[in-house]
Amino acid sequence: MLPSGARTSAPCSPRAKPTGGRLRFDGSVLGPRRLVVVGGVAAGLSAAARARRLDPTLDVRVFERTGFCAYSACGLPYLVGGVIQDHKALVARTPGDLAKQGIAVHLRHEVVGVDLLAGRVRVRDLEAGRERDEPFDELLLATGGRAALPFPGAGLPGVFAVRTVEDGLAIRSWLSVRQPSKAVIVGGGYIGLEMAEALRCLGLEVSLVELLPRVLPLVDGEIAGDVEAALVRHGVDLRCATPVQEIAGNGRVRQVVAGGEGIDADLVVVGVGVSPENALAAAAGVPLGVRGAVVVDARLRSRVAHVWAAGDCAETRHRLHGAPSYIPLGTTANKQGRVAGANIAGRDESFGGVVGTAAVKVFDLHVARTGLSEAEALSAGIDAVAATIVHRSRAAYYPGWQPIRVKITAERGTGRLLGAQLAGTEGVAKRVDVIAAALHSGAGVDDLARFDLTYAPPFAPVWDPLLMAARQAQRLV
Ligand code: FAD
Repeated sequence: MLPSGARTSAPCSPRAKPTGGRLRFDGSVLGPRRLVVVGGVAAGLSAAARARRLDPTLDVRVFERTGFCAYSACGLPYLVGGVIQDHKALVARTPGDLAKQGIAVHLRHEVVGVDLLAGRVRVRDLEAGRERDEPFDELLLATGGRAALPFPGAGLPGVFAVRTVEDGLAIRSWLSVRQPSKAVIVGGGYIGLEMAEALRCLGLEVSLVELLPRVLPLVDGEIAGDVEAALVRHGVDLRCATPVQEIAGNGRVRQVVAGGEGIDADLVVVGVGVSPENALAAAAGVPLGVRGAVVVDARLRSRVAHVWAAGDCAETRHRLHGAPSYIPLGTTANKQGRVAGANIAGRDESFGGVVGTAAVKVFDLHVARTGLSEAEALSAGIDAVAATIVHRSRAAYYPGWQPIRVKITAERGTGRLLGAQLAGTEGVAKRVDVIAAALHSGAGVDDLARFDLTYAPPFAPVWDPLLMAARQAQRLV
């Protein structure tokens, strides 16, 4: 429920063109419009930068709880694994860089409350231990996602989530100081898989424990099977259908108790899902939707006037079934932030929605998906068919070709393309992007079968695996 008197939207009127100052009733100027952004990463800073570029009079203040802004969480597994040596490489811009763009970033400042009626936030300076109020004309919630740690014992030293630069640095420090030899990864989603690779490549014994009967629920069983084979091939002790009961230790982590058995561990990484960091929005009465994400329209307006949300804390519209969804990815956070920033600055832009494109590397295996998997399409009530083929990544006569599995999902009767999943050791990401583009344009399997795709022996056979899969799907729809 909204506080009475809060400036409700749905839809709120498009913002007036920037004026460079607000007028009091008596006509005097109150000062520039102020945008307060909560969260200084992908969505928050994309919005701040775009808003400020389009409206240089805007007073932009960003509050970020951690000690870093503009960082790439996507690079954290590679920081832990040593592929990236210096954590500063993950930080795209510092507060100093942003100050030159007229954006004031306050690190180690947590927004602890929002007063919608008064139009101000309560900010806690985590270093100084002091609180103050900051007024806003526009408020962007870009608070991101929260890693779940739902097990007894998850607070033991040596148990980590992977979400912030501090998390990555803490794992690195544990690795160098404690020299662990046995790691348990809890969760077989893409973060768990990336962390399994990182720790295995550092020479640790790695067990991966997954509650479900198979890893990577974002893809269907055949593709997950390829992932499991890659894990086992690279020496990961894979335990699916194994619920974790507790994480045990004395003074530090010693074991993960899962499926009734104790698995020795001197390092545990938990990656069992992300949920929207929505505490502020919920306390302020900003309406929440799918999985607790802030309800937003295509312009990234929440249901409360002058309150916007973008990135992992916000809903997004799925282009294929049209329903609001929660698919927290960096690519979406950046785009949503850009759109929110433009609209805050007075433009009228829309975010076009997502098709759920994602890729993950598991040792030498590349896996990607876009659109709806067969399971997702069926559970969305779509009469879906699926065609799976295994073909070559290059011409048969060109040395080094690798098998590539392609699964295409399409709607029975109409032939509408619904999605694709791929697994192989090369050529996966380029092909999934072809399908993502096809989904954006509403193509069908007949269109895909006619696509003019690359053929050159080192890159693809004359009949690309996507064309082969499309021909197979044509026979089924
Ligand atoms: P976040 O990055 O979560 O940033 C939100 C920020 O808000 C946080 O720094 C938080 O400290 C701050 N905050 C929250 N509440 C407050 C408050 N009250 N006051 C002040 N500050 C606050 N996506 C991809 O597209 N591709 C990938 O390959 C990929 N790999 C990933 C790998 C890992 C290990 C992880 C963790 C994520 C990965 N992602 C990937 C997801 C991607 O990182 C996120 O989607 C993206 O960071 C979301 O950006 P955001 O700005 O919405 O939120």
